[in-house]
Amino acid sequence: MPVGGRKQPPVVVEKPEATAVSTISGRSWELPGMWNRMFEPRVLSDYTATGFARIAGLPGGESLEWCYGCGKCVPVCPVDLVGEYGPRKIHRKVQTGMDLFSSDDLWLCTSCANCLRVCPKEVDMTKVMPAVREAAIGDGMVPAELQDVFEKTFRNGNCLGENPRRRNAWTRAAGVPVRVLPTDPGAVDVLFYVEDYWSYHPRGQQAAQCFARILAALDVDFAILGPEEKTLGDSQRVAGEKGLFEALMEDVAATLDKYEFKRIVTPDPHGFNALKKVYPKYGHNYEVSHYTQFLAPLVDKIPFRSEVRHRVTFHDPCYLGRHNGEYDAPRTILDAIPGIELVEMGRCRENGYCCGGGGGGMWLDGFTANHTSERLSERRVREAAETGADVLAVCCPYEVSRFEDAAKSTGNDQLRVMDIVELVDMAMGGTGAV
Ligand code: SF4
Ligand code: SF4
Repeated sequence: MPVGGRKQPPVVVEKPEATAVSTISGRSWELPGMWNRMFEPRVLSDYTATGFARIAGLPGGESLEWCYGCGKCVPVCPVDLVGEYGPRKIHRKVQTGMDLFSSDDLWLCTSCANCLRVCPKEVDMTKVMPAVREAAIGDGMVPAELQDVFEKTFRNGNCLGENPRRRNAWTRAAGVPVRVLPTDPGAVDVLFYVEDYWSYHPRGQQAAQCFARILAALDVDFAILGPEEKTLGDSQRVAGEKGLFEALMEDVAATLDKYEFKRIVTPDPHGFNALKKVYPKYGHNYEVSHYTQFLAPLVDKIPFRSEVRHRVTFHDPCYLGRHNGEYDAPRTILDAIPGIELVEMGRCRENGYCCGGGGGGMWLDGFTANHTSERLSERRVREAAETGADVLAVCCPYEVSRFEDAAKSTGNDQLRVMDIVELVDMAMGGTGAV
């Protein structure tokens, strides 16, 4: 079956004439073509519930078999838009014999939760997929590129395989002092949990520097963990490595226990999701905000110095929006930046399109490319370009590199991808924004 963008209707088989025979009288008569229009032959097959038995037996896997086939989930699934996917299709395939544990379909879901938003039966792929993936990993079936990330995370405490000692290298060019708790312990108001991409990726480091300058301008008492920081591991969890996630969590909790702080602020919606919703299930409770939630109430105090004359559209991160209900904080900040004209994409807020990075998708681009007509990030960049915006604003560390690559590959080089903090920093007269 061709994948998204090249979908074909079923083949119509219309015979010019046919003969119908009565089973009662034995009489026969000719049928014209209009009565004889049918689709390609359909193969009827028996199926049993056995395909669901192992999935339903997994904690979190129960809901897949609740599907009653209404189809609401398919048109909102971002993967279906560029391929053949959606819970209804997965359900039907399992019903007719597909082994989800060994199928490539297992790794395509980005856990964006748009299907759950519309499903009347509450089929929850954000729980089904991690549960089945965990079992598949136990059976040794995991895409090589994802396995590589798991190993890097295990060895180094970050998904990029970087040296933990370089965690705070970005602070040297921040232009403001950044306190590092292991070398300068003591109580602090805000623990800035930087996470992997803002710590190590060059474009993420620029955003981290902007955020540090904003915190300094607001006189916020903040500090980072530096070399003691490890990833919060939420995407590894959803990608199926629950054991790795739990080990990371215990390390993180032990580190956090050593220091005194009032709240954690992080730029990463995935890390934010872990601290807000998953860590408490294991008894680790913290006051945590995404950086947009921290800055939104403070916008009147940000010392803006110049206008940022850009037409900006904003991409809602799935794990800030649908997973945690925050749609307004990023827009409050963008609205406060002098000179910005904010235009929305058709798919935004609750129905925001996924960048493809969630649920392990960040590390599965090569694998996913074999099953989709284009990357989700490319699809999203084209939607952003259609608004006429010259800046695509983001507030998830996964997105800058994904969308910058997609802007190039789709020929939309005029679209700059900027984190919201880069726009704020630019309006403050900062130098770190691109
Ligand atoms: S919306 Fe829910 S019940 Fe309807 S087809 Fe999709 S998974 Fe099944
Ligand atoms: S969670 Fe998102 S990607 Fe996964 S099946 Fe649902 S809509 Fe599709």
